[in-house]
Amino acid sequence: MHTIYLLLGSNESGRMAWLRNAIELLQQHCGEVTDRSAIYETAAWGLEDQPDFLNMALCLNTKLSPEELLQCTQSIEQQLGRQRTIKWGQRTLDIDILFYDKDIIDIPGLKVPHPYIQDRRFALVPLADIAPGFVHPQLHKTIAELLEICPDPLPVTKHS
Ligand code: ADP
Ligand code: MG
Repeated sequence: MHTIYLLLGSNESGRMAWLRNAIELLQQHCGEVTDRSAIYETAAWGLEDQPDFLNMALCLNTKLSPEELLQCTQSIEQQLGRQRTIKWGQRTLDIDILFYDKDIIDIPGLKVPHPYIQDRRFALVPLADIAPGFVHPQLHKTIAELLEICPDPLPVTKHS
């Protein structure tokens, strides 16, 4: 069994429902969801002229290999109607694989730990809810420490 952390994001109308449906499908197809963060309202990063996102982090136990997991999360993105058009553009649902145990994976189409975790408050803040003491296997700092030194100025606030 493997412990994985995922980040979900949505900035299309009905954002809450996209997240809820994604959790349901992840439970059915990828593994057992053992923990979830609060839901956060976050300003779009990278391509900033688009609606705010909702983001949340999940912890799952899975039997899937990294490749199978990516296939599973991508097929859920597709099932929920994601159109892959503009890089970093608006989307119904984005599922990023943040960590897969403490493994370091670099194969075509999959980099784990996700290469931008330390640069994105919208990933670190939800992750800090459920895994503040998790040590990043390449940066050798905890999530709480990475959050403290993260230079990202974009606002991340709890969604009520
Ligand atoms: P982003 O998440 O950066 O906004 P996308 O969701 O469109 O962009 O992802 C682009 C590509 O990133 C996907 O086709 C996927 O193969 C690749 N990728 C590489 N590493 C990961 C990862 N850790 N989690 C999810 N996707 C990844
Ligand atoms: Mg993605």
